[in-house]
Formats: sequence, structure tokens, C-alpha cells
Amino acid sequence: MSITELLQSFQQKLNNKGCTLVAVSKTKPVQNLEEAYQAGQRHFGENKVQELVGKYEEMSKDIHWHMIGHLQRNKVKYLAPFVYLIHGVDSLRLLKEIDKQGRKNERVIDCLLQVHIAKEESKFGFDEEELTALLADQNFTELEFVRIKGLMGMATFTENETIIRSEFAGLKVLFDQIKKHFTGKNIQMEVLSMGMTNDYEIAIEEGSTMVRIGSAIFGARN
Ligand SMILES: *Cc1c(COP(=O)(O)O)cnc(C)c1O
Repeated sequence: MSITELLQSFQQKLNNKGCTLVAVSKTKPVQNLEEAYQAGQRHFGENKVQELVGKYEEMSKDIHWHMIGHLQRNKVKYLAPFVYLIHGVDSLRLLKEIDKQGRKNERVIDCLLQVHIAKEESKFGFDEEELTALLADQNFTELEFVRIKGLMGMATFTENETIIRSEFAGLKVLFDQIKKHFTGKNIQMEVLSMGMTNDYEIAIEEGSTMVRIGSAIFGARN
């Protein structure tokens, strides 16, 4: 199937579930993204700042750009003028830098806090205790140019559906708890970003509102 056909079938599957599709276009040429754009896709996800900025400059300005990778503080400034949502925020230091760059650009930057739900050691993110401590910390609550829109998580890379499902279910419980107990001008819990090519169906069943899909749309990456 073509990129257009694959996207259309995803859009049909997701629209009636209130789930947003972020087309993860990392490593793919702009030509592929243009095809997706022509098919109506407006949310694109990249994991490298330089590549994201380059594609932003080349493409239509009505695209919503999602930074889904690990973000270094010294690169926030390149994204701050236009980024739609930063998914992988995993420290107060990074939030402070995003706030600083948001202030410079006179715009509030929407972020998701990354939660460590997988068994693998290597994946970034907060655990539950760190997350609730952060949200209550005055160093966070006084920030004016960042807004927490929700949480993001990546499940363990495994064939075992039970593990994946329980990790996503745990993240959904945490999301609901935070939504209920933390209100503030810079917290607006609406987005639960979970699910990729291999596990998006489980993620949606467990309450995902945003899936990040790459290879199922654009083909395998080199
Ligand atoms: C690459 C990537 C994806 C998409 O992965 P696929 O398996 O190709 O769908 C989703 N989320 C993050 C954080 C990624 O880095």
C-alpha cells in the first residue's frame, strides 16, 4: 500500500476513537512527508532537532511538529519558536530551559512528561514518585511559559502482550490520578501519548489519546 492508503486506513481507525495520529517521519525524506501532507496528515513527529527544524523550514506552516525524542537543553532554542508539543520531557532542568525559551519567544510551550514504564533500564523518564514531586514543586508551579498537557510512555520492547498491556494500563491510572489531583495554570492534562507501530492497538484499548506511528506508515527505517 502507498503512504496515502496506509494513512487513510489509520485515520479511519483512529478518528472515531478520539485518538490523534502523529506520523513519525524520522529519517524519511521530505518527499514522503509531502505525500502524507497531501493525504491530510498534519501532525508529524521527529526525534532529532536538526532534522525537525530542516523539515519545518521546507514544509507548509500549518503542520504541527512534535518532538518525540530525547531533547538536550542546549537545543531547545531551535524548536521554541514553532514546536507544537514536546513529548519527552524528563527533568525540571529541561522544563526550566523550555520555559526560558518560551518566554523569549512569547509563547507557552506545550509539553508531555515522559514516564518510565518499561522494564528496560535505558529508557528515559520519571517514576511515579518523581513525577508527583515535580508537579508539586514550586520551581515548577511558578513557570509561566510551559504547560504540561499530559504524559508520554514507551512500553517494554517485547512480544508479550500482557506486559505491554499492564504497562500502558499503569500509565493510564497515573494519568487519571494526576488529572484529578493536580490543577494549576500550567497543568492541563489532556494528552496520553502511548503506542507505536507494534503496540498501538493495545495502547488505544488502554486509553491512549495520541499514537506515534512511523514504520507502519513510511516503511522500515534504515
Ligand atoms: C521512532 C519512534 C516512534 C515510532 O516508531 P515505529 O515503531 O516506527 O512506529 C514512536 N515514538 C518514539 C519516541 C520514537 O522514537
